[in-house]
Amino acid sequence: MTPVAGRVERVMQTIGRKIEGMELPAIEKISEGQKKDAFQILISTLLSARTKDETTLAASTRLFKKAPTAKAMAALTVKQIEKLIYPVGFYRNKAVFVKEASQALLATFGGRVPSTLDELVTLPGVGRKTANLVLILAFQSETSICVDIHVHRISNRLGWVQTREPEATEQALYRVIAAPWWPLINLYLVTWGQNICRPLYPRCGDCAIISDCRRVGVERVGKAKRKEAV
Ligand code: SF4
Repeated sequence: MTPVAGRVERVMQTIGRKIEGMELPAIEKISEGQKKDAFQILISTLLSARTKDETTLAASTRLFKKAPTAKAMAALTVKQIEKLIYPVGFYRNKAVFVKEASQALLATFGGRVPSTLDELVTLPGVGRKTANLVLILAFQSETSICVDIHVHRISNRLGWVQTREPEATEQALYRVIAAPWWPLINLYLVTWGQNICRPLYPRCGDCAIISDCRRVGVERVGKAKRKEAV
């Protein structure tokens, strides 16, 4: 095992224990609540970009009450979708993507969400991040890593990768992390990023993985809240 692989192993095991009881990311909650419905996971992931978790959850709930399937969603107007998803970030653009993606699902895939990355990224508004998360949560893919801003930031702070863009981070992570962890990286690091390794002022003084963290680029930290590491 390489030194990085050893650190990755310890960090993932520790985070896996520590996040029990922490607030789960909105998409995980939606995925569990909707029995891993691929359409609803896809649409919620589209809504979640640059939006607080509680806003994504509330908007998704309102939207799926009105339109739980691609067919019902495609029948809504963009204005109706806008109203239902407000105030998610960029709600006007996202309403267009939600409508167009639903129409594309009907036109090309018989109303079903496709199960390959190549097909998913043909849908309007769907990039690798969304596609990989859908593959992991809806299709239980064991060969995908979903890199969002939390995964990108924390992987670099930990010193696992040295990358500037999320896509480069995804490719680098396939090389440094053992395959059994791939589907778990997003859940683990997003939860850690929302609770401990926050974008500004990470809580390094409270962090249980500090001994395995290089803290690359970390200049200012938040106040420690506890006597013991979280
Ligand atoms: S030690 Fe600090 S930078 Fe490293 S993972 Fe923990 S909170 Fe993030």
